[in-house]
Amino acid sequence: MQFHLNGFRTGDPGLLDAAIPPLDVPAGDALPAAADVLIVGCGPAGLTLAAQLAAFPDIRTVIVEQKPGPLQLGQADGVACRTMEMFEAFGFAERVLKEAYWVNETTFWKPDDGEGERNRIVRSGRVQDVEDGLSHMPHVILNQARVHDFYLEIMTRSASRMVPHYARRLVGLERAPEGTSDTASDHPVTVRFERQDNGHAGEVESIRARYVVGCDGARSAVRQSMGRTLQGDSANHAWGVMDVLVVTDFPDIRFKALIQSADEGSVVLIPREGGYLVRIYVELDKLAVNERVAARNISIEQLIAAAQRIFHPYSLDVKEVAWWSVYEIGQRLCDRFDDVEPHEMETRLPRVFIAGDACHTHSPKAGQGMNVSMQDTFNLGWKLAAVLRGRCPPSLLHTYSAERQTVAKELIDFDREWAAMLSAPLKKPGDPAGTGVEPADVQRYFVQHGRYTAGTATRYKPALLTGPSTYQHLAGGLVIGTRFHSAPVVRVGDGKTMQLGEALAADGRWRLIAFGARGDDAGSASPVGRLCGHLLDSLQSPLKRYTPAGADLDAIFDVRGVFQQTHHQLVITAMPELLFPHKGRYGLRDYEKAFCALQDASQNIYTLRHIDREQGCLVVVRPDQYIAHVLPLDAVNALGAFFDGFMLTV
Ligand code: FAD
Repeated sequence: MQFHLNGFRTGDPGLLDAAIPPLDVPAGDALPAAADVLIVGCGPAGLTLAAQLAAFPDIRTVIVEQKPGPLQLGQADGVACRTMEMFEAFGFAERVLKEAYWVNETTFWKPDDGEGERNRIVRSGRVQDVEDGLSHMPHVILNQARVHDFYLEIMTRSASRMVPHYARRLVGLERAPEGTSDTASDHPVTVRFERQDNGHAGEVESIRARYVVGCDGARSAVRQSMGRTLQGDSANHAWGVMDVLVVTDFPDIRFKALIQSADEGSVVLIPREGGYLVRIYVELDKLAVNERVAARNISIEQLIAAAQRIFHPYSLDVKEVAWWSVYEIGQRLCDRFDDVEPHEMETRLPRVFIAGDACHTHSPKAGQGMNVSMQDTFNLGWKLAAVLRGRCPPSLLHTYSAERQTVAKELIDFDREWAAMLSAPLKKPGDPAGTGVEPADVQRYFVQHGRYTAGTATRYKPALLTGPSTYQHLAGGLVIGTRFHSAPVVRVGDGKTMQLGEALAADGRWRLIAFGARGDDAGSASPVGRLCGHLLDSLQSPLKRYTPAGADLDAIFDVRGVFQQTHHQLVITAMPELLFPHKGRYGLRDYEKAFCALQDASQNIYTLRHIDREQGCLVVVRPDQYIAHVLPLDAVNALGAFFDGFMLTV
């Protein structure tokens, strides 16, 4: 963490100076008349977006929620490795690591094969939950409400001092045709909210926005206002879920476990944070089309009894129910995540977006709902900021639906297969071939698809923001289109061993990571030195042409260097300006941009990520941590051509 750049300050460095002058926020908590970005819904999707935009106090972001205050209990709890990497970028991963349950192993339970014993469950296998080396972050479990708390804290401590407007329900959304009047074309979306709070209930407030993002869950009013629907299974699957404190003789109560009984259904057991609490998902029936699970009047006693039958012969004495719900969900997807039809792409710009459950829903079995929702808005946040701050044309925003709808579709296909496998009847001894599922198949499928559930399988296809794979061989383990896979490095300036991923903050900046060629010390004649010189000094510098006069190039592009030598063999003060820049009002030097590979082969970033030691390479990383390009160190023209595709020259 870096601070004191513009002068020494006492107190909490995480509490940023409030933006001055303050934005035109009205007195009390009334909604302002206008916003650059209006976010509807304070779930994981909405809060990720709000936290990202809070980093830009020059953007007026307003977030509105129908509930009276922050979420307290329940809902999702699985936090995938990829999500933890994103939390690191937001600066609160360490707190989650400390508070959460870590999923180390997953165990599998099936009916006993012994004669007359099939109503007893026995352990059929154990697997390491996340394969070695998949991420520097673990898979953890933490209540969704706590995740919300961390985001809310980021927002209130940001320079924007952003807080949600609660107790307001969206009741109307209209988009004016572009160019109707000055105000309408500038802020073309008008949204009406009905207040739900005491003393104001029923009052309607109206706000105009440049962009609206519907993060308002599976029954999204924003989606409906766009005339879009979730398509997929017409029937929902019902799940009973309870967070409980239990006394049990089941030995794996502190392991994530998939339990399939012979005739009583299946349970997904998720140990929870704090050492005692567990979550038990009990799969209930598939509902008829248009049937609501509430009509079945399922009680907590029924849920507990169902779980007890599945756990047999182990006892399950529920001492306290912290939260429970009967939750219904189908695997459904929207065909587009914005308000532009495919045939309008050339003529209409997106103004209204949907994210998270508003555009895709899936079973809780793969634990993806919250994770994918947050990744949606991490994808959208930096793009909105880049457009609103004049760095990129609004057409960039077309890439949100294109990228995320594809990811959601893949996820739903995976989820459908996995959910079907867990719900299928188990093969019984003597069953003919081809009927039922073998417990071993379930375990195999779980292991094979571990990258999916860890959230690291996402790969954006070559397009505007994802370069071609021409030079992929220079960094075979940093795959274009996938998230930047961190590895350990040593910081040259102070010898600190750390993950390179720690440098990838959620600050909207592009990252250019130059991996030095053999012997490269960033001297003026070396490949990295020449690249840095060109990027900073040349009039044709591909980066300078996107940096407004007087603005700091470092505020848009964060250039980093990684070298093969030890930090004792390099001299930080000899690094080129881009890797040792003067910054802030005093022109202080930044000592944290140059790194070395660890010399131990098992920890060496060149070895781990298959980086060409002879030639080195330049890895271009998007603000949402996805790899946009891999290029040779001297390919400055190709770099410029890539950025020309979506950045505005000044
Ligand atoms: P949500 O978390 O649904 O957030 C949407 C927000 O928008 C809500 O706060 C809502 O109040 C607000 N909102 C909705 N309509 C309006 C409106 N008109 N005006 C203003 N605000 C509005 N996933 C699991 O993996 N396991 C679980 O056990 C599980 N249980 C769940 C239980 C419930 C009751 C619900 C609703 C969801 C559950 N989920 C569970 C799903 C998981 O919580 C979601 O996948 C995840 O929260 C998606 O995040 P989101 O931000 O897209 O939407």
